[in-house]
This record gives sequence, C-alpha cells and structure tokens, in this order.
Amino acid sequence: MSVADLITHLDRSVSPAHSTAHSADRLRAAGFVEVPFADRGARLPRRGFVRDAGLLLAWCDDGGPFRVVGAHTDSPTLRLKPLPDASAHGWKQMAVEVYGGILNNSWLDRDLAVAGRLVLHDGSVVLVDTGEPVARIPQLAVHLDREVNDRGLVLDRQTHLTPVWGLGTSRVGEVIDLIATRAGVKGDNVRTHDLVMYDATPARLMADDTLLASGRLDNQVSCWAATSALLDYANSGDAGRTFVVALFDHEEVGSESTHGAAGPQLERLLRSLHADDTGSFADRCAGSLCVSADNAHSVHPNYAERHEPGHRPIANAGPVVKSNANQRYATTAETAAFFVEACHGAGVPVQWFVSRNNVPCGSTIGPVTSTRLGIPTVDVGVAQLSMHSSREMCGALDPSLLVRALVAVAHH
Ligand code: ZN
Repeated sequence: MSVADLITHLDRSVSPAHSTAHSADRLRAAGFVEVPFADRGARLPRRGFVRDAGLLLAWCDDGGPFRVVGAHTDSPTLRLKPLPDASAHGWKQMAVEVYGGILNNSWLDRDLAVAGRLVLHDGSVVLVDTGEPVARIPQLAVHLDREVNDRGLVLDRQTHLTPVWGLGTSRVGEVIDLIATRAGVKGDNVRTHDLVMYDATPARLMADDTLLASGRLDNQVSCWAATSALLDYANSGDAGRTFVVALFDHEEVGSESTHGAAGPQLERLLRSLHADDTGSFADRCAGSLCVSADNAHSVHPNYAERHEPGHRPIANAGPVVKSNANQRYATTAETAAFFVEACHGAGVPVQWFVSRNNVPCGSTIGPVTSTRLGIPTVDVGVAQLSMHSSREMCGALDPSLLVRALVAVAHH
C-alpha cells in the first residue's frame, strides 16, 4: 500500500460520507460484497461490508477470535447550519456551526470547499463536493488589530468564523443552489443537507518525501490503514480470524450517536457474524482483540515542555501505543504486549505515548468500544503535529508501518 494510495484517500475523503464511499470503492474492487444496511442483521457473506453515511463496517469472516480495527471518519470542521444564507454589510456569507474541537485560527484565510450529503424531496441522498473553493474566512488586517501578535488571536466562534462567499445580499436558498448545482441537482429539489467545509489544498508530500501535509490526517490515516490491512488480510488466505474494520462517525463530538462508537452498529454486526458459532458471544469477545487506531501527538520541537519527557513519539518511527492510567485510553498491559509482540514479529518499530500529569489526556473510540463489548483493546496511532488544524502533518512512512502492524495483529 503506497503513500500515493493514501493521498488519493485523503483527497477523496472530504466529508465522513465521502470517506466511507471511497473505502467502499476499494473494498468492492477487491471482491467484497456490499450488504444493504437494512440487512446487516441477516446472514452475511464471508467478505462484505455495510455502509451508511459516515459509518462503514467491513469484515473477512474466517471464524476464530475477532480482530477488530476501529477508526473514525469525522474531523473537526465547520458545518453549514440548516438555514445557511446570511449576509452583512454588503457581503454574502454562509452560516456555519463549529463541529468538534477545531483550532479556530487554522480556518482563517484558507480557500474553503464544501462537501457532504443532500437529502432530496423524494428521500434519496446524493453526495456533493464543490471541489473548488467557494468561501473564505478572512482574518482581520493587522492594521486594524495592532496588538494581535503580542496579545494572541482571540476569536469568537459565533461572530468571527462566518465565511464570506460573495457580494450583495443573500436570497434564501442561494447557498444550497450554489452547492447542489455541483452535484447536478437543482437547489429546489433539496429538502435538507449535511455539509461541511474543508481546505481545498490537496494532500502533499514534502521534505524529500519524508513528511505528509493534508487536512483530516486525524483520522483518515487510520481509516485508510484499517481498510488496507483488511484487503491484505483477505488476500493472504484463511488465517482463522474474523477481521472486522469499524469506521465510526462522530468521534470528535463524543461518539454518542447511532453511527458513533457508542451506538449499537458494531455489536449488531459482530452478533450476526457470530450467529453460526456454538460458543458464547461474551466468551468470544473476551478472547478477541480490538485495535483502536487514532493519531497520536508527535513531540513538537517548539513546545517540547508540553510532552512527557520519557514518552515523546516522533514521526516516521512507527505506530504509537497510547496508554493512560485513568482509562482515557483502553490499552492494558496485556493488549499492549500483544500489539508490541505482533509488531516485533513483523519488524515494525513501536513507540509509546502517555500524557504529562498536568496536561489533560485526550480520548478516542477505544474506551467506548471496549466498555460496550468487553473486547480487550489497545489504542494506537500514527504520530502527527497540528492535530485538529485544518491542515495537519505526519511522517510519510508511518501510515504504511501502521498497515503492517495491523496485518501482523490480524495474524497474531
Ligand atoms: Zn482522532
């Protein structure tokens, strides 16, 4: 799996639904059967997937213990409000709502495109992506804010983050007209929408191809790696494991939704995959393993004091095992040992992350899935900088090392 393949995934995954659509294309091309979402509780093919909006569950069922790899398809962004038409002082604007923990400043002066889903009057759903930038959030000129560089930039999320997209006064329906046209749909045919903004700059290799810059590295890198590992596993013949990939939505806002990790979808799928097995579902889960894959913080050279001195992951030095005594990560001594041993067997280096005691630890889907299902879980991820910026950076070698690690876990 090449970094060019990852770059294609990053550039196509401009919204959660676009991310699952691209993963679905990859799975279909490899012979995985798409099962209608409504039939996910029925008898399932050996290799298949179900998908709905920002959720995708895929599997290769060879019996035996589950090897679940979980990741999330959403990223912090600006989402169009239900009635997005706004204007002020001669400028047309788009009313947006902050989704998740964005770095406010990273959305200023970017050329912003819009992507997501349109629900039409007949109930059908269409994916739309403007591709080209359609809006921008202009930063106030330094001449009108002389102290900004000393005081720091303070932005009010309601008043200072409203993008501009034209001149004049917005008419009702105009923003959706502008976007729907790109999908070949008339604005009047759109009943509702689920649209997010993204920086239109494509993913790019830099620094002699050792670094990768892109939007949504958190957590498209893991979505890509999980799907790549599943495709590799499915090609390697029956290894006596049931490899499941769970790409959830809504991690950035707490995972509590039907399509989030706290929702019922993964358990429902695992129970369907378990239907022919005579043993107990709880025992099978307890003897299985989940890898919760989500990016980790690389040590920042300009802010090294923010990192725990003995645990400072760096780019291109392999997947990071994330541990937290207060269970913000689900990693246990046993699951970490399992992961490290599998990586050693595959020649993949491993690093460790733990927060400083005086810096609150983030969390991810690992604790949510392990609590729900009783599957022992290890939290791992690729080291990156600028997490939750509209444009992030990671090592160009780490994503492929993560794929190799996940394949090794599947076989271990
Ligand atoms: Zn994440």
